[in-house]
This record gives sequence, structure tokens and C-alpha cells, in this order.
Amino acid sequence: MSKTDVRYAVAALTDCGSTRPSNEDSFGISVEHGIYIVCDGMGGAAAGEVASSLAVGEVLRLLDERDGATPLETAIEEAIHAANEAIYSRAEVDFQLNGMGTTLAGLVTEGQRVLVFNVGDSRCYRLRKRKLEQISQDHSLVEEQVRMGRITHEEALLSPLRNVITRALGTQPSVDPDLFELEAEAGDIFLLCSDGLTGEVPDVQIEALLSAELPLDEICANLVDAANLAGGHDNITCLLVRAEG
Ligand code: CA
Repeated sequence: MSKTDVRYAVAALTDCGSTRPSNEDSFGISVEHGIYIVCDGMGGAAAGEVASSLAVGEVLRLLDERDGATPLETAIEEAIHAANEAIYSRAEVDFQLNGMGTTLAGLVTEGQRVLVFNVGDSRCYRLRKRKLEQISQDHSLVEEQVRMGRITHEEALLSPLRNVITRALGTQPSVDPDLFELEAEAGDIFLLCSDGLTGEVPDVQIEALLSAELPLDEICANLVDAANLAGGHDNITCLLVRAEG
């Protein structure tokens, strides 16, 4: 695979799940500029939807319009800070939207180079040679306790506090995203998803579903179906990006 001439295939699906009355997840794609984003909004009434769609729209627009002179890492951080500001200031002036926020997981491709970024507990995984690896690290109370060695991964999965996130977009005047830099190999599949998938479907099953020799959109539908079959207690969003050889 040459450094400059890498093609990426994409498939994405968002689903309300089986129990929620509305879908507060959003996703966005710019195939032309290699930008892929998943957001999971929260807040009363329709505020979660407003937060997640604002975040997707702002980050996508700013990265789409970026000038080639700005390093990609800087452009990503600036776009996330601007989206944070847009959500935070909107919530301040509109009482109904007070306290709204959203997670964000995304990636930008630049040839073979892949920059992954996240805030909150929406995740990025990579499947390489049928092995699944979580690239992003959750900003959640239980995952931080796991990283500090206070509880085990298994305890985290069962904790009543597993949905408590420690970072979000729009709830504070500033935000601190994490960035991860990778190099894509032909056949790699990147998965961006909300916790409506990972809260229902264990990693080992995600790995098996991603490893299937199927068209990308069928794999995407199978992931969403698996989350619904497991209960579908939350909105489910899956976005797949595959590096083509
Ligand atoms: Ca969620």
C-alpha cells in the first residue's frame, strides 16, 4: 500500500434501539476529506440530539474547511474546542438546553496516516488480521478506576456507575480531547461507535462480526442487530472505515 494512494470504504448506521423514545446519537462523514465522527448526546427533552448534531456539524465543517498549512493534530484540537464552545454557549442562552453535552469519537485519514480522537465513552476500535484492539480510552469513572488498578475490567462492566462519563463536549467552558496516531494497513477496519453497541455486545462478539467476509454495510447492520438482540437499551451507532489494498 503506497503512502499517498489509500482508498477507504465506509458504512454507517444509527438506530434508536429497542427501548428509547428518540435517537440522541449523530454521525457525520466527509469521504472527500477522510473525516468520520460519531457523537452520543445527553440532556433533557431534545437537548441530547441538539448537542450531538451540533458537535458533528461543527467538527465536520471546520475540518472540511481546514487549510493545508495547519498540522492535522492542531486542526482537530481547534475544531473540537470550537464545537465545545458552540454547544456550551448555546446551552447558556437556552434554558431548555441547559446542561446538554455529547461524547465524540472520530478519525481523520491522511493517506495511510490515521488520527483518532475522543471525548467521553464513545469508542474507536481497529480490527487488524481478525484481532480487535480498542484504540480510544474511555473518559468514564469505571475505566479510570480500571486504569488506576482499583477495580477489574469485569467489575467495570457490571458497575452501576458504568455510564458515568468524566469528560464531555459542551458541559464545561473547555475540553481536553485525546488523540492517537496510527498507520493504516490494507484490510484494517476501524469502528467508531456509541456505548449503545459496547454496552450490549462484548468485544469478542464485535471481533467476530467484524471478521466476517461480508460487505461493509452488512457488517454494520449485523453489529446494530446484535445490540438490539442483546436488549437495545440505548441508541446504537456504528461507523466502519476500511482501508482498501
Ligand atoms: Ca448512549
